[in-house]
Amino acid sequence: MMKPQTLYLVIPCYNEEAVLPETAKQLKIKMADMIEKQIISPQSRVAFVDDGSKDKTWEIINRLHESDSLFSGIKLSRNKGHQNALLAGLMTVKADADMVVSMDADLQDDINVVEQMVKKYYEGHDIVYGVRSSRKKDTAFKKFTAQGFYKFMKLLGVEIIYNHADYRLMSRRALDGLQQFKEVNLFLRGIVPLIGYPSCTVEYERGERFAGESKYPFKKMLSFALEGVTSFSIKPIRMITALGFLIFSISIIMLAYFLIVYLIGKTVPGWTTIVISVWAIGGLQLLALGIIGEYIGKIYMETKERPKFIVETYLNR
Ligand code: UDP
Ligand code: MG
Repeated sequence: MMKPQTLYLVIPCYNEEAVLPETAKQLKIKMADMIEKQIISPQSRVAFVDDGSKDKTWEIINRLHESDSLFSGIKLSRNKGHQNALLAGLMTVKADADMVVSMDADLQDDINVVEQMVKKYYEGHDIVYGVRSSRKKDTAFKKFTAQGFYKFMKLLGVEIIYNHADYRLMSRRALDGLQQFKEVNLFLRGIVPLIGYPSCTVEYERGERFAGESKYPFKKMLSFALEGVTSFSIKPIRMITALGFLIFSISIIMLAYFLIVYLIGKTVPGWTTIVISVWAIGGLQLLALGIIGEYIGKIYMETKERPKFIVETYLNR
């Protein structure tokens, strides 16, 4: 086999003081083992990204970095959300790494799979997607909403890997590709397949968060799904157009019908018809406006070209 290459684990952390020490401990064992077996180089690192945490997360990362050069730390200037924190981490370590694996701080993703991912990398894959083999540990509600989400995305024609979250390996050139995507509305799961290059999947069981609370309550999940849909698909707009066309056609037929009825002289006080159509058309217009507004909002955000993240400190030695 060729000379072992450098692996960076990138881990976004938001208020993760409860899990970080244990996570660091487990990852250290895993990384040391892989370095020992010469699967990865001794320059490999675990890079924690502090996404503007309000608890002791950054202090813990600092302490880890001081005690062991295996641990790197990246502190963002404020909380920017999981996707932006992840991107910040990836772009910051890119120059130092040959390959990067992203994962969550709570180790819900089985870390033993990293070795398989690295193996796939050596076999020539630039992107290796971690895919959940089952959702046994999820609540019925989460299972149902997640499945619905993937089905809906597929229906809208968005290329997305089924049951893949953000646990994945990317090569440096794949990261270079990712960097060329300039959009602010960031939905990595949708963007990464657009990069191209050889890719594959590995399966794993997703466990439970061992400490701390989920930072993805239902409201965030919903906005995440909405972000995914509106960032990648203009089908909703097309659906509105089609609906508008359909309603218009029907109204023409109705008009002809009423005209005939009028000419025959069978007119009735059309109060019901008027009120119903006022409500139906009004509602439809509002719906259409709302959806168009979604996209205008996106254009608005994109034109600002705000930075997606600002790195405050990069500890690496
Ligand atoms: N996270 C983050 N910024 C945020 C929210 C979450 O960096 O604003 C991180 C969090 O620390 C964790 C990962 O994103 O490492 C996934 O969050 P969580 O485990 O709470 O999500 P769940 O597994 O419940 O979907
Ligand atoms: Mg989690």
